[in-house]
Amino acid sequence: MTVQSMTHRGTADQDRLAGIVGHAYRGAPYLRTKYRAAGIDPTHWSEGLFPRLPFTTKDDLRLAYPEGLLAVDRSEVAVIHESSGTTGEPTPAFFTRGDIDEWLERMLFNGVGLDEQDVVFVKTPYSMLTTAHQMHGAAQRAGATVIPAGNRTELMPYSRALRLLRDYRATVAYCMPVELMLFARRALAAGLDPAKDFPDLRAAVVNGEVLSPAKKRFLEELWSVTLFPDYGSTETTTLGGACAAGSLHLWSDRFLFEVLDPATGQCSPRGTGELVVTSYLRRAMPIVRYRMGDIVTVTDPACACGSDRPQVWVHGREADRFTVDGRELYPIDVEDVVYGALLGCEPVFWSGEVDDGHLTLVLEATDSGLTEVRRRTAELASALASRLGMRSTIDVVPPGTQMTLDRQTEQEAMFKPVYLRMRGHDGRGLDYTGTSQETGSSQEKLT
Ligand SMILES: [Zn+2]
Repeated sequence: MTVQSMTHRGTADQDRLAGIVGHAYRGAPYLRTKYRAAGIDPTHWSEGLFPRLPFTTKDDLRLAYPEGLLAVDRSEVAVIHESSGTTGEPTPAFFTRGDIDEWLERMLFNGVGLDEQDVVFVKTPYSMLTTAHQMHGAAQRAGATVIPAGNRTELMPYSRALRLLRDYRATVAYCMPVELMLFARRALAAGLDPAKDFPDLRAAVVNGEVLSPAKKRFLEELWSVTLFPDYGSTETTTLGGACAAGSLHLWSDRFLFEVLDPATGQCSPRGTGELVVTSYLRRAMPIVRYRMGDIVTVTDPACACGSDRPQVWVHGREADRFTVDGRELYPIDVEDVVYGALLGCEPVFWSGEVDDGHLTLVLEATDSGLTEVRRRTAELASALASRLGMRSTIDVVPPGTQMTLDRQTEQEAMFKPVYLRMRGHDGRGLDYTGTSQETGSSQEKLT
């Protein structure tokens, strides 16, 4: 099945594509210029037109700054969000009131199933990104109570965050996976057991980092909750989320998803490659063939939940891919082996460097967990060799070695960790001292 045949499966899909692409062409000056330069006039729609449309890239978003991709009158814009890359160049995201309503509805597709009994602890940034706003609004729409804790700041030290989580009896936490690890470490240091002393907490909706199955299970056991990953970006808002059966599904009734083979430039509805998304509904800033930059595998739905939405596995950024004995791997593959060998341990942070198939791995454990983590290293080294073909050196270090604590703010001096770096890989690397800037990697991306 090609994208063309897929998009032609029904007149309704073609009508939706023709409508949104025509709207983008008429309304957004940057896209109009780009499509004209490619010799394409979407106002004269034909069946083969869509696959010929040029992709929209993150660079386009920067080049179109500030309003080149705005496709409605400014009076219709309800909110302006913004993300930025390593260079700090801003990429805006505009939404109409209708766009917001649609995204909030979509956020509630997540299998966490919020209702008026829930108390949702929102622990992602409110500042300019969409992440916190999408959960805040969706939870309220579901009738739940919201605790708007927001990002790590001096106003929200961990002692306060833990108090809010416990005393206001939060049932659902919304945060990056790394936050659950940090929270657990802080709870243990305060004499609390994350699995027992937060009895109302039933689930966590997590995004902003690629999450391996083993790390998901590690965090679920640590907190005695179910994790429901969400996948998206500030530009697109949520694109997919976990169902009650634990699979990640794409919201294919709201977006057309294509998988781009970077080697051939061909797009398919299924397979492994870079994810390309088109929103059927977005008005203020149309998302048309937008390259997410993430390498994914999309498959037909085959899930116990019975959903007809395709399933997706997010591997990471193409730039993060490396090879060991000819086999392509991503940091998430290493992470999966690491946490698979450490299940049941107290919180552990990992970082590593790969050099010619050899992994130098550093595990930062808690004081009370050091002995147990050290005991697991032989098993871990063996698993790295058998599953990934990697030789390894593993060092277990005490808390604070990498995740240094700022005593003033009670914040670890890092925001979005880069877990794995390649020796000789310019411009990337283990960064536990970084700021809150987004660096363009999906491991660090918040929606
Ligand atoms: Zn499912």
